[in-house]
This record gives sequence, C-alpha cells and structure tokens, in this order.
Amino acid sequence: MSDSNCIFCRIIAGQIPAAKVYEDEHSFAFRDINPQAPVHVLLIPKRHVVSLKETASEDHAVLGHLLIVAGKIAAQEGIAENGFRVVANSGGDAGQTVFHLHLHVMGGRPMAWPPG
Ligand code: 5GP
Ligand code: ZN
Repeated sequence: MSDSNCIFCRIIAGQIPAAKVYEDEHSFAFRDINPQAPVHVLLIPKRHVVSLKETASEDHAVLGHLLIVAGKIAAQEGIAENGFRVVANSGGDAGQTVFHLHLHVMGGRPMAWPPG
C-alpha cells in the first residue's frame, strides 16, 4: 500500500513536512518544493503507484478522480480562468525523478509548447 522508502508516501504520512493544499480519502496535494511556475502543486494518489506505466485495474477510479481534483485545485489556486497545465512525467525520457505517480498542476504564467 504505502512504501516507507518513498518520499511522497512519507509526506502523506506526515513524516516529511509539506505545504498541503488539498486532501481527501484517495488523494493528497502539496506545493512543489522547487516551483516552476507561480502555482506548482503536486497531486498524488494515497496508494503508492509508481507511474502511469505501472497502473492496475484498481487504479481506474482514482486516476479519473485525480483529474477532477486537478481542476478543483486549479480553481482553488485561482489559475483556472487564465489556464493551467497538468503534467505526469512518466519514466526516464520524461524526466520522472520521484517514483510515486504525481500530477503537476501548474499555472500563473503563460507556458510554451512543446515542453523542453
Ligand atoms: P518529477 O520530476 O518526478 O515529475 O517531479 C518530482 C517533483 O517533486 C519535482 O518537481 C520536485 O521539485 C518535487 N519534490 C521532490 N522532493 C520533494 C519534497 O520533498 N517535497 C516537495 N514538496 N516536493 C518535492
Ligand atoms: Zn509512494
């Protein structure tokens, strides 16, 4: 369920401090420690899922839930109106560095496309 070696599981458990912005039964959100935009929130499932490559059928509902919550967080953070970006870096080429699935919810400035 949770992985004691995983930094994000430890944040959920309150063992590592984080600036929480949202929590419900299945998800947890907190500010990125190294923000790349004026608003940069990490939204994670409470269940330890490594990445989008390692999802199981039991993650079906929570993955949908996370996208709904991402929109709510954007509204709560005041970036929904101007636009925001939701990113899930998955694996090496994408630059994933923490192996507990997370959505970056970012906004507060115009963003380029394609990403680097
Ligand atoms: P990834 O590169 O895996 O998509 O994103 C991992 C993100 O987690 C990075 O943006 C990084 O700044 C953030 N991060 C890593 N360690 C911590 C931490 O201990 N606390 C918080 N709040 N963010 C972290
Ligand atoms: Zn974890």
